[in-house]
Amino acid sequence: MPDSNTPSTTDLEKHLQALNDLYNSIQFLRQIPMPILTPSEQIASTELRIQKQKEVSETLRSEPVQVALRAAKESEALDPSELSANPRRERRKRQRSPSPASPQPYIQPRRETTSMFSSCDEDRLPLRVDDLDRFIKEFNQSHKCKLHIWLGTLAETRHRSVFVLRFLIPDVLVAYATVNAADANSEGALVTESITVFSPMEKKPPHSQSKYAVYQTLSQQLAKMLQSDPFVSFRAVVNLLCSYDDLFTARCDRCQLVLSMEGHVPPAARVWVNGEDGVGGQWMARHVMCTKL
Ligand SMILES: [Zn+2]
Repeated sequence: MPDSNTPSTTDLEKHLQALNDLYNSIQFLRQIPMPILTPSEQIASTELRIQKQKEVSETLRSEPVQVALRAAKESEALDPSELSANPRRERRKRQRSPSPASPQPYIQPRRETTSMFSSCDEDRLPLRVDDLDRFIKEFNQSHKCKLHIWLGTLAETRHRSVFVLRFLIPDVLVAYATVNAADANSEGALVTESITVFSPMEKKPPHSQSKYAVYQTLSQQLAKMLQSDPFVSFRAVVNLLCSYDDLFTARCDRCQLVLSMEGHVPPAARVWVNGEDGVGGQWMARHVMCTKL
């Protein structure tokens, strides 16, 4: 007798198609790193992204996708094999002994080895959208740098998957971080998609580009760092941004100069150096060219 709870093959195909379409449209949103585009390409790309974001959000809310997501969740709960494409969950599950009935799951290599971010435990804790209000308040009370939600309120961010945070170091820089709180695998933790940096004097939208070489270089450097650890906690991103408070005064730890020989830009790269015995650590300032020496 067929089990009424088991979905038919046709239903499964429909679910897979709905989820595949959703996945592909989300991937499209992540594809283009803004700093490498020309200003006119950026405007076109931004318009396209906004359009795509609307489509993704409508697709996500649509009945077929919601039905497919519910079915996937129920099916995953019943599946004892612990198969997962989520490296984070893989890390958490590593401590558990595998079920004797299932094959040994493939364990991905540790992400931390390629991450260019700080390895401090507190920076590694995920920051969820629900923790954001308190995080911003505490951060602003204890730092001269300031963090705010750009255009909008915290209440609004709860209903949006993607929003922008504005980070200011007075007289040094303003950075806009585009964060995503709806990554199905991140369980509500904010994932930083891109960061663009400007002079505090510039009045430009987050998806444009600074007219100054130093901020363009900095945006490119931050894109490279995010690439090294795409799911890094937003706490670690903020820690990194804070390290730029001496952007115009720090000496490069390689060549000992403030302005580079080529291009005359200050050290736009930051290299995390662990403290002795792995306790704490600090950011070292370095010219981008000097990171390749
Ligand atoms: Zn240097």
